[in-house]
Amino acid sequence: MAGKILLAGGAGYIGSHTYLALVAAGFEVIIFDNFVNSHPSVTERLAEINGAPVTCVTGDVRDSAALDRLFAQHDIAAVVHFAALKSVADSVKDPLGYLDNNLGGLVTLLAAMDRAGCRNLVFSSSATVYGIPDETPTPETAEHRAMNPYGRSKIMCEEVLEELAAADAGWAFGILRYFNPAGAHPSGLIGEDPKDVPNNLMPFVAKVAIGEIAQIKVFGNDYPTPDGTGVRDYIHVEDLARGHLLSLQSLLSTGQGHLVNLGTGKGQSVLDVIDAYSAACGQDLPFVFEARRPGDVPIYCAQTDLAKSVLGFETEKSLADMCESSWHWVTSQAHLTRP
Ligand code: NAD
Ligand code: UDP
Repeated sequence: MAGKILLAGGAGYIGSHTYLALVAAGFEVIIFDNFVNSHPSVTERLAEINGAPVTCVTGDVRDSAALDRLFAQHDIAAVVHFAALKSVADSVKDPLGYLDNNLGGLVTLLAAMDRAGCRNLVFSSSATVYGIPDETPTPETAEHRAMNPYGRSKIMCEEVLEELAAADAGWAFGILRYFNPAGAHPSGLIGEDPKDVPNNLMPFVAKVAIGEIAQIKVFGNDYPTPDGTGVRDYIHVEDLARGHLLSLQSLLSTGQGHLVNLGTGKGQSVLDVIDAYSAACGQDLPFVFEARRPGDVPIYCAQTDLAKSVLGFETEKSLADMCESSWHWVTSQAHLTRP
């Protein structure tokens, strides 16, 4: 296969699963990560799963010189850009830091790609760009209404990519708007590994299941949803990883860009998640209703037709698969000795 694939932020949750999907499809892959939100031991675990060494370079996407060295040393056909900070709460406290890392990182990376003549990039965007959408399931044409600095950093990044593509047809961008990634690899060796108390539902539920946190706090039971709790479109991280493979293959074979939602098209409530996780771990997980979380959206759900028609992408895994693989990951992790 001509040229390698660079995964910027490839040691993280979605990047590590995408690494496995790309290697399985025959790509030669390099991980580039500064480990601000991941651990270098991820690469050892990826090597264990694949039975082959992993090429990983430690560095920051805001470091032009490091990127130039990387592109000089490797023939890179395309980049998948995961490297970003993703906490909504932290972005509100530190908007400048988020702009610097997420927008500044993208611009520095694009400039290095331009110098190296590599003009194919898959970008991790988010359903958060829709804010509170008028329509659910939400189409890609919905208005941009992000409600926090993290979401706005994703909109700005998308705009940079659109302007660049309009200025020079040599660039091809796959912009992927993820809905709610969940679950883990069946090996139990990689998964979501939040450094602090998780803000997101699924890792929080996992911590309750494993006994590290006493009970789940359900933020709001008075939403206009079937059971009153917030509804999200949870997508298995392995389905999401396959979406990146299809996006890359499309960019490399057609030279044309695309912007698509990656979700299942099915909404699941907080209580659905608690039920599915309780079934996966074999115990009824305790929960308590609390007030709505400020800024929360009642329902997020993807319109999925475009990803299907442009990429041939459809999800294969269920909420039960997400909970079972997450449970396997958190229970396996308890036995891993980690530095
Ligand atoms: P993650 O934090 O697990 O992975 C991101 C990786 O990027 C980490 O390994 C981190 O160390 C690295 N990184 C961050 N800044 C860097 C920098 N300046 N230079 C080099 N490496 C850097 O997050 P994730 O869940 O895998 O998310 C990947 C991407 O998907 C992010 O862009 C995120 O905004 C986006 N996204 C995530 C979700 C989600 O719920 N997980 C939803 C929508 C979009
Ligand atoms: N949620 C919850 N308790 C938690 C974390 C989240 O009830 O500890 C709810 C939240 O209000 C939302 C859903 O779970 O309705 C998904 O939240 P998450 O933060 O995982 O995703 P996002 O809101 O960013 O889509």
